[in-house]
Amino acid sequence: MQRLESEKGEPMLGYEGYIYTKERKTEEKIIFRCQNRLCKGRCHTDPSMTIFIKRPTAHCHGPSIDQILVIEFKNKIKARAVISNEPTSTILFSELKSCSLDAAAPLPTMATLQRTIRRQREAPTSIPDELKKQPIKKIEDTTKRL
Ligand SMILES: [Zn+2]
Repeated sequence: MQRLESEKGEPMLGYEGYIYTKERKTEEKIIFRCQNRLCKGRCHTDPSMTIFIKRPTAHCHGPSIDQILVIEFKNKIKARAVISNEPTSTILFSELKSCSLDAAAPLPTMATLQRTIRRQREAPTSIPDELKKQPIKKIEDTTKRL
């Protein structure tokens, strides 16, 4: 089972060449459906995505191993972009060297990948402030009403 992440940071799952996107999450499990919307393939995992609660059902199409490798690769450069200060191109080239993608794999263009890294680096700063402000506002509202 490969734990992956979508462009929007949603959990995705790779298994035996099939890609699953999160449909729903409950306290006990995550329900995944096949990325191919015409397919009825589904599976359930525990919330941390380590075991199957319900194993994948049949697919109406073949696996797409290349696509999983591409998603994995993007996840890797995104993670590295957050933890290191290396230039975008350094991250790209060193990850490209170490990845298992062959020349035939449908890897996005360099420009797209560089954007992926830059977007990842710009994103996190605004979120914590938002989260800090919201609860305070709510408390003020309730005290006024009381
Ligand atoms: Zn499918």
